[in-house]
Amino acid sequence: MANKIKAVIFDWAGTTIDYGCFAPIKGFIEGFKSIGIEITNEMARKPMGLSKIDHTREIAGMLPEPILESQVLEAYKVFEETLFANIGQHCDIKDYVVETVAALRGQGIKIGSTTGYTAAMMEQVLPKAAAQGYSPDFCIAPDQTAKGRPYPYMIWNNLIQFGISDPREAVKVGDTTADIEEGKNAGCWTVGIIVGSSELGLTRDEVASLSESGLDSRKAAVRAAYYKAGADYIIDEIDELLDVLADINRKLVQNTPRKLLTPGPLTTRYSVKHAMLTDHCTWDDEYKEITTSVMDDITHIAANDDYATVLLQGSGTYAVEAMVNCLCGKNEKILFLVNGEYGKRMLAIANNAGKNFEHIDFDMTKPIIAELLENKLKDSNDISIVVFVHCETTTGVINPLGKLAKIAKSYGKKVFVDAMSSFAAYDIDMPGLDIDALAASSNKCLESLPGLSFVVVKKELVEKSEGQSQSHSLDLFDQYLGLYAGGGKFRFTSPTNVLLALRQAIDEYKKEGGLQARRGRYIENHDILVNGLGNIGIHPIVAPDDQSYIITTFELGKLDFPGMYEMLKSEGFVIYPGKLTSIPTFRLGNIGDVYPTDMAAIVAAIAKFIGAENDKKL
Ligand SMILES: *Cc1c(COP(=O)(O)O)cnc(C)c1O
Repeated sequence: MANKIKAVIFDWAGTTIDYGCFAPIKGFIEGFKSIGIEITNEMARKPMGLSKIDHTREIAGMLPEPILESQVLEAYKVFEETLFANIGQHCDIKDYVVETVAALRGQGIKIGSTTGYTAAMMEQVLPKAAAQGYSPDFCIAPDQTAKGRPYPYMIWNNLIQFGISDPREAVKVGDTTADIEEGKNAGCWTVGIIVGSSELGLTRDEVASLSESGLDSRKAAVRAAYYKAGADYIIDEIDELLDVLADINRKLVQNTPRKLLTPGPLTTRYSVKHAMLTDHCTWDDEYKEITTSVMDDITHIAANDDYATVLLQGSGTYAVEAMVNCLCGKNEKILFLVNGEYGKRMLAIANNAGKNFEHIDFDMTKPIIAELLENKLKDSNDISIVVFVHCETTTGVINPLGKLAKIAKSYGKKVFVDAMSSFAAYDIDMPGLDIDALAASSNKCLESLPGLSFVVVKKELVEKSEGQSQSHSLDLFDQYLGLYAGGGKFRFTSPTNVLLALRQAIDEYKKEGGLQARRGRYIENHDILVNGLGNIGIHPIVAPDDQSYIITTFELGKLDFPGMYEMLKSEGFVIYPGKLTSIPTFRLGNIGDVYPTDMAAIVAAIAKFIGAENDKKL
């Protein structure tokens, strides 16, 4: 497996040289002594890792009385003199450095470095380290950049030098919390070293003289400091770095960005994922305002202010269950129109809730037949609610929403729709069609992350639904009260970060140009997919007029699905198995942050797979 890490950037004193980082300590003590101030070893060490002038100022900040800038500069001058006098005796290479660096270079990894020393100090250090076999490929000091640690500029200079544009391809290794912060600020992976570190602050002899438990507790304190600073890895000795790199590499490979050509979760935009980085409290007013804005925006995608959007924690099925469970009264009977697995799922929901219901089953590869609904409603007047799926994701069939709603309404029935995979992709005019409720979720055509679902429902209907739910956590009435009367308050813990992502995803939807633009992109995606695969002999099982532009079921023929799945995954695409039992099929979604170029690429990848299969047979 190719190594994804391209550079390791080491600190100097305490990390690769000068066990325990003692060179600067004496200098600071002497420096402050020269202005008549006694400082302790501990004070001298605390800001270690910063540029030495910043370090001097930090020590000055710890003093009981403030001192003048001129005194700081005087102390620094003496510090420098003292350091220059003895730096040469503190350049011993630490254990395992030479071997580890050789092993890293053997993997093609560049060795960079940053430091708290000035360039002049490094001039003394570099030849001494080289004489012992350690010479990094690049070295930069804080006085050669705008600012030293914890600013990231020294690391970024390394990345520029090595031609690395993604900081996640570099690892910063250090022995102070300032090193870790520098690495975090640069966007790199960070590793803290415990043994021989400044943070531990002990000589080899002191370490040897400690009892095992004494040393363990000192090391635990160092670990806690690195952890608090946000270190990605914490190791004793530098040679453990090789295992760390293997682990990072495994994570990077596992997390390779892929295009999901599935019915959801989908490929999402960076901004949507990035929106999750802020932690919010469920009860916070600012968060509640964001929640309210999300509900308002969703309502206006398909309806008007006569409707409410009741958000629910959970996947789309939770919203479907809440809709069926709560909005159907004790004396009401539901008629389900079923032409796929999602329709069947609603039967299971109604059955579990003990609802009074009937169903008409249709061919899965064809839309629901409106005339059969009409015939049914003509004959039986005990039906109160008609429920069906808009786009049956099982096959990709699109059901005639308008026709079905009009018929149901002409017989005075309520209409509930599972619009999970069509919401924000198809024009759904709830008030125009007088649809009473629909269920959808965050992770379909709104192109956000999974974890939130919602029911858009007539306010007057949900307000009458008190006590109708067989489930407490899915009680839409209670949830509605919290979210509307409570000004955006979820009854129970909400997926706060997921909500922030949904907020961003709705902003992206508007930015793209709303329904018209999104639908346009999906249609174009779908056309390229169907035409492209058609050219290589792979055809949809649903007739073009009955086919949605969201997800398509294709005949698999003699192709081997697991083999094709793995091959496509290695090319960066994830596809979906078919759900039909009658013939072997596979499914491709064309929704999410995917474009015509991606569609052309998946067609090419499938053609390549077929070519390779044919070659095998020859
Ligand atoms: C995705 C989907 C659902 C919800 O499924 P979950 O796995 O709960 O997200 C329901 N109905 C349809 C038509 C869907 O496409």
